[in-house]
Amino acid sequence: MTMARVLVIGGGIAGLTAAHRLRQRLGPGAEIVLAEASDRLGGKIHSLPFAGLTVEAGAESLLAARPEPAALAEEVGLGEALRRPGEYPAALLLDGELKPFPAGTFMGLPRTIDDIASYLSTEGLAEAKRERPTSGPLLGPEEDRSIGDLVAQQLGIEVRDRLLEPILAGIYAGDLDRLSVAAVMPQLATHLRTHQRLTDAVCAMLPAPEPNQPKRPNPLATIEGGLGRLVRATAQHAKPDLRLRTTVRQLRGRPGGGWHAVCGPVPYPSLIAADAVVVAVPATPAAQLLEGHATTAVAALREVDYASVALATFAFPSGTTLPAHSGFLVPASSGHEIKAATFFTRKWPHLTTEDAPVIMRVSLGRYGAVRSLQRPDADLANLALREVRACLGSDGGTELPEPLKWRVNRWGGGLPQYTPGHSLRMSQARAELAQLGGIALAGAAADGVGIAACIASGRAAADSVADQVL
Ligand SMILES: Cc1cc2nc3c(=O)[nH]c(=O)nc-3n(C[C@H](O)[C@H](O)[C@H](O)COP(=O)(O)OP(=O)(O)OC[C@H]3O[C@@H](n4cnc5c(N)ncnc54)[C@H](O)[C@@H]3O)c2cc1C
Repeated sequence: MTMARVLVIGGGIAGLTAAHRLRQRLGPGAEIVLAEASDRLGGKIHSLPFAGLTVEAGAESLLAARPEPAALAEEVGLGEALRRPGEYPAALLLDGELKPFPAGTFMGLPRTIDDIASYLSTEGLAEAKRERPTSGPLLGPEEDRSIGDLVAQQLGIEVRDRLLEPILAGIYAGDLDRLSVAAVMPQLATHLRTHQRLTDAVCAMLPAPEPNQPKRPNPLATIEGGLGRLVRATAQHAKPDLRLRTTVRQLRGRPGGGWHAVCGPVPYPSLIAADAVVVAVPATPAAQLLEGHATTAVAALREVDYASVALATFAFPSGTTLPAHSGFLVPASSGHEIKAATFFTRKWPHLTTEDAPVIMRVSLGRYGAVRSLQRPDADLANLALREVRACLGSDGGTELPEPLKWRVNRWGGGLPQYTPGHSLRMSQARAELAQLGGIALAGAAADGVGIAACIASGRAAADSVADQVL
């Protein structure tokens, strides 16, 4: 129990989890101020009504293979609202055909080359089979490298471009040759430090199922009624002094300890005083806030670039038939601009009722290809629909009717790109912040793009400042 005053900057899931954890740790007497620049909470989570349903305009799923999302949902009273996807597998568009995403792989990386043989050309398969053990482990103790480079070197360009690229493009909108293996696949990186073959590292991480072992459950989940419910319930439990439309422009050290956050217009600044601060905003504003206080952290944050993405969502008449998949991923090498299409109502059966429309979300935007998004909404939606029709048409001729409704949601600078060395730079940044005292960093800029990682990050940041103010 304390009367401390802690400021959380940023009302995305990381900041909200931090506020909730601070309330748990500091008790009802603590003052927890939550400053959010926009007029709503949730950041990249935004559940909006569409065609009579709640359809996510941003993030849609929780990685239930990690414990944090379910734990947070339970803590805020939404344990019963967790929903799993249906049985339909995700597909991959290869050579004009939708193929189920290869089972038993880790993001397309196989335990044995046979598991992916039918996804490769004759030359690609021969290249993958040339995998040889290296003289030492694939990654040194502190080493990091690009995942694209590593996979192309070990298993060939086709494994990189036909299997890994589409899945990482979906998650990061990333350029594989710039993405850090340690940051985007930390579990795999651990095994790469002790194995000399990529397939052996995958085997160590993902042991082959025993005969008669039940199928692994789908690792994803969502919340009935939309992820926005998780945002609202977390805020309700945190009971912060909520300041929406409050952009924190600067942090100033307070004489005698603690911080002043400078908000409001430049000519009429207002100050929020706090004993400790959690910074849970994207990399550019986070670097701006730490400027003048933490050189290493600022440099680390300035290394984090962002990719922009857009989602075109369509409602088709009830009864529209779709292939028997939850959606499909589209490799960049196919020449299409769309990255993926999610058959939203099929993926999430709790949304499907007899006369409900069929919802499809199509995602566009790859790192460095900003111009493809620089079209008016209607043009972007038309492009998305044209390309989905081409993809489905080439796969046995699924005919899509005209949509009843469409919308486009844009996420400029939505997805952080972690280049090799990111994890080390962030741990050095944290060591520097620990010296400053009363300040912690949280969120996707530092700790990973997924909601599960952001929940873990917000909680850890809250614990670190709570330890200091208690
Ligand atoms: C289109 C899209 C789809 C995604 N899909 C998934 C998915 O299905 N599953 C998944 O796990 N992840 C997904 N992600 C990633 C995930 O949603 C995000 O990484 C995560 O929600 C980020 O949370 P955060 O709290 O770190 O940051 P944010 O959500 O970015 O929140 C940061 C908040 O800080 C505020 N802010 C910024 N500057 C200031 C300032 N100076 N002062 C005050 N406030 C400020 C912002 O307004 C924002 O609300 C998706 C992301 C996108 C863009």
